[in-house]
Amino acid sequence: MEKKRLVVLGGGESGVGAAILGKDKGMDVFLSDMGTIAPRYREMLEAEGIEWEDGSHSAQRILQADEVVKSPGIPPTAPIVRQIVEKGIPVISEIEFAGRYTDAKMVCITGSNGKTTTTMLTYHILKTAGINVGLAGNVGKSMALQVARDPHDVYVIELSSFQLENMYDFKANVAVMLNITPDHLDRYEYKMQNYINAKFRILNNLTPEDAFVFWQDDPVIQSQLAQVTTEARMYPFAEHVERDTHAYVDDSDGELVLSTSATSLRMPRAELSLNGLHNLYNSMAAGLSACLLDIKKDDIRRALSDFDGVEHRLEYVADIDGVRYINDSKATNVNSCWYALESMPEGQKPGIVLILGGKDKGNDYSEIEQLVSRKVKTIVCMGKDNTKLLGFFTGKVPEIVDTHSLEEAVEACRKAASPGDTVLLSPCCASFDLFNSYEQRGTLFKEAVMALKNKENR
Ligand code: ADP
Repeated sequence: MEKKRLVVLGGGESGVGAAILGKDKGMDVFLSDMGTIAPRYREMLEAEGIEWEDGSHSAQRILQADEVVKSPGIPPTAPIVRQIVEKGIPVISEIEFAGRYTDAKMVCITGSNGKTTTTMLTYHILKTAGINVGLAGNVGKSMALQVARDPHDVYVIELSSFQLENMYDFKANVAVMLNITPDHLDRYEYKMQNYINAKFRILNNLTPEDAFVFWQDDPVIQSQLAQVTTEARMYPFAEHVERDTHAYVDDSDGELVLSTSATSLRMPRAELSLNGLHNLYNSMAAGLSACLLDIKKDDIRRALSDFDGVEHRLEYVADIDGVRYINDSKATNVNSCWYALESMPEGQKPGIVLILGGKDKGNDYSEIEQLVSRKVKTIVCMGKDNTKLLGFFTGKVPEIVDTHSLEEAVEACRKAASPGDTVLLSPCCASFDLFNSYEQRGTLFKEAVMALKNKENR
């Protein structure tokens, strides 16, 4: 029999993992990347004897594929993807591909914000409980590579809408939907419903044995649930108990309550290691997922209270001259900045110096307008082009500063902040105008802040 011809588009973590799994399953594999493949991935491909190319796509060869695994970063509008689809060749995601070759339990986490935090927290709980668990999707290692070379009993998978787009037969055991707010609309023809539909693919193929964990108060999730059907058992969480709520805070004693048919546990909310309302939700989602996997209550409580948090998400950097510096560089949309502002204590006077700006993905800043006017004393705009921010916020805060580099922005923050204030980098925007990534933006911010601290110590 002829070997199945698998083409992998994209030579990053997920693509290289898919190529290796394909090879292990006896397929004829070819990997193609329009950009440059990083040396470490090239070495892996060479070591495995997998054919690859970068810098261009050999359409003729690609169009002979029986199936294509596409990296989530490549948009469906890319010319080569269009050609593949026109030819009727199936295009799937790496998770769909890997899912075919494992019987492991899958905890899949999606939402507009909080995915990484919840994924890492869920992984931490399962690790604490001694489960043989793998981390996959947008974080951690390629799931395909783990399935091929280092299989686990459970995978905790962060799923973006991009990944979900090319998933068909894959099935979660526990599907988590944290929230849905506008994000990446540039990739969805600026139609919110297209983005919602992609997210709701997480419900595909769920059976009555599976569970759907979701934020009960999210208006978008509510209205979508009124229109779609699923056989899964429903596990809504909310701050305050409503009908059928499975995780909430008991108003009488401030305890977090998690309840499933198998497990029911309580713990003081104050013992959760992550602060802020958004992180309460993330802790509920992770805690419920762990209950659904029959993790021991003591392990869940311990792990929810000793989790270290994730870099670039409301990450404490330093106190300098009485001013607290916080790195929330991962806040690449308006809603995540809303939660960052919400989690900051309210003083008598506005005490936040807020760094905003970068590449705007179609933002509507009115969502944070109220919180900004209550809590923010100075907005420092940090971007190549700050026109939209300046236009929206001028006159709505006591001070607004226009800067075009990180150094200028941090210096403006230092000047604007007084003892007791907080400088918060929570930019609402992607980083690509001035930086390579949100990680680089956050790392450079922390370095600039630490340089200020060293000056203070001299
Ligand atoms: P994602 O992986 O979905 O981008 P992260 O966990 O990396 O989410 O967090 C991204 C940003 O969103 C952070 O700035 C954080 O403060 C904010 N955030 C985290 N959890 C939530 C939530 N449940 N709801 C809204 N915002 C959140």
